[in-house]
Amino acid sequence: ETVDTDLVEYEDTGIYLDTVNTIRVYAASEEEGKTAVDQVFERLQEIDRKLSIYDEDSEISAVNQQAGKESVEVSRKTYEILEDSIHYARELEGSFDPSIGALTLLWGWGSEEGPSVPDEEEVRETLDFVDYNKIEMQENNNQVSLAEEGMRLDLGAIAKGYASVEARQVLKDNNIDSAFVNLGGNITLMGMKPDETPWRIGIQHPRSDRGEVMAAVDVDEEELETSEAVVTSGDYERYFEEDGEEYHHIIDPETGYPTVHEIISTTIVTDDPIKADAYSTGVLVRGMDGLEFVEETENMEAVFISENLDVFATSGVRDRLELFDEEFEMVD
Ligand code: ADP
Ligand code: MG
Ligand code: MG
Repeated sequence: ETVDTDLVEYEDTGIYLDTVNTIRVYAASEEEGKTAVDQVFERLQEIDRKLSIYDEDSEISAVNQQAGKESVEVSRKTYEILEDSIHYARELEGSFDPSIGALTLLWGWGSEEGPSVPDEEEVRETLDFVDYNKIEMQENNNQVSLAEEGMRLDLGAIAKGYASVEARQVLKDNNIDSAFVNLGGNITLMGMKPDETPWRIGIQHPRSDRGEVMAAVDVDEEELETSEAVVTSGDYERYFEEDGEEYHHIIDPETGYPTVHEIISTTIVTDDPIKADAYSTGVLVRGMDGLEFVEETENMEAVFISENLDVFATSGVRDRLELFDEEFEMVD
């Protein structure tokens, strides 16, 4: 194979899906690169308009507004992402739950006043409305309904994974063979780097500025086919402080509160960006037990970081993981 040195690198960053998105492509020209990346940004905006729980005109809001009443027809793609969500919720035994919406709204995420700690009793009452088994799906006409009036869908934990798949399709349609896509910590790769050096994927430092990485995962050519998504969930992505306590955005569906165990960041390495997104959230909720869970899951690896900056990794990723920050310690 010859190295294509004629390709130019084009990169841009934009805020969509409530997060920072960076797309780097290797294109025939600067102009073609820009066209492709701009189209990805457009697609991200469309996805947000369809899936956002905070946009009252979204398809997800249409389903939410009819909770306990009627079923709603959604687009085929929205139907499929919901089906995937329910499937992964089952696999993860409910630690990831696409019906978490009643709780995210109760905590005030996305509200004008901003998030705040809800009344304990209200949290307890709201737990009844979080149950992915009560999402009713009708395959033949793409109809979705929620069994109880207080239920709300929230696809925030899987939307970026889905958007990664869509982004890749947009790039392919624009004849891009080589790209790096980072949607708020959901990283997907396309093809080889033009200079044929291996891709290295950074893992965000959970207690430092955005963009500061504390480790890297090597992805080489053979593995590229099977490990192209590196997806991180962390308590640092979104949080607020109240009465001296910090509360983050990932909620344990069993308690109704943000997770409080020692694990603060979970990275999943696998071939499917949607699965990786669901799993990174689900295993963050599960905590240390999630590491064993991933070890037993085929074709998936994980890197966990604890509050005191210990790093834990599944067997298949250890040799490909380099820590470059002395604050962190690899635990056997
Ligand atoms: P991030 O990259 O921001 O850490 P995640 O993929 O982990 O994102 O998703 C976090 C978002 O998912 C939250 O902002 C909320 O909307 C939703 N969410 C929170 N807890 C759960 C949960 N246990 N299961 C499913 N979705 C959740
Ligand atoms: Mg994420
Ligand atoms: Mg996720």
